[in-house]
Amino acid sequence: MLNRFMSLFSSGMRAYKVQNCSREKRVGLTAKSLQDLVTKGRDKLHIPEDEEVTVVIEDDGTVVDSESFFKKLPSQTVFIFLIEGEIWKGAGDLIFEALNNLHGTARRSELADQIRDLMVDENAPEKISVMSQYLDMLEMDIESEERYENEDWFDGLSKKYKTKSEVMRNSAQQRIRSYYVTAKEQIQKEADPATKSLLLDLLEEIHTALKSNDFHGSYFDRNAAAKQRLCDKKGWFKCEGPFDRDTCDKLHTINPYASRGYRQLFGLWNLDHVIEKSREVIPTLLEAARKKPKYANMNWKEAYRLLFTRENLKLVQIGCHKKASRTDKRCDVADFLLK
Ligand SMILES: [Zn+2]
Repeated sequence: MLNRFMSLFSSGMRAYKVQNCSREKRVGLTAKSLQDLVTKGRDKLHIPEDEEVTVVIEDDGTVVDSESFFKKLPSQTVFIFLIEGEIWKGAGDLIFEALNNLHGTARRSELADQIRDLMVDENAPEKISVMSQYLDMLEMDIESEERYENEDWFDGLSKKYKTKSEVMRNSAQQRIRSYYVTAKEQIQKEADPATKSLLLDLLEEIHTALKSNDFHGSYFDRNAAAKQRLCDKKGWFKCEGPFDRDTCDKLHTINPYASRGYRQLFGLWNLDHVIEKSREVIPTLLEAARKKPKYANMNWKEAYRLLFTRENLKLVQIGCHKKASRTDKRCDVADFLLK
């Protein structure tokens, strides 16, 4: 080993890695110059002579086109060989690809290896944590569904649950039920009997609709119809970003189906009401009931939409769950009245 190192050193040879754009192939080689790297890399990656090659650094996509720059790069640098029409966006691209291929299982272990390689040299803590979280989940038993296949996932849960999806359905239903219960409690505090009675009737309508929608257990059920679930068919959930943003720029992602730990961690993800339930929706609903003219009816469907549907619910990781007051996220008394 030492001899090999000494001979490499004396010849100016250093070890690098080369890879093609599609990440299908990554190979180690030694080279003494950029020209040498290109020649050997072409050969290893089977790129024809007549194909023009652009060499970029894997990490950030910087083009390496001079010997002097090449000499400054440390050994073990990973170079991507791009041919015409290919673009490399750097390390972020790998995570991006990974997140966009959550269904693909065939290349999972390969992706995991590459993410691990990247993490060795990565300095940004945020990126590391995203990558390591993703890596963990890639390597877990996501596919299994039945209790007998993965007893550990069900640890601490009632024996009545036979599949992961049943557990997750129940967890979604519990959240929706708790929104119903807190709404009811808030309404029961109403002093005016007529207003209260009007709203308890409205809650009855809502309850019937909730029952027919199975309390939206489908939100967390990966086996539910695509339109009715928040995850993909493998059980991956993406944070939808803070209430005042369209997306999550932290790439928060979780698969509670992956392990008991992630199932528990998912408990910290919030189904957040964009227009707040207790501070805005219910008070406005109460006001509407108080002001309701005799000829008008209460619009229970609008209350339902705001309290229980994705039109006003966002799934957010705890880091994206902002508690700030939402003065611009309001509803209107008129919305709750049908004339
Ligand atoms: Zn987020």
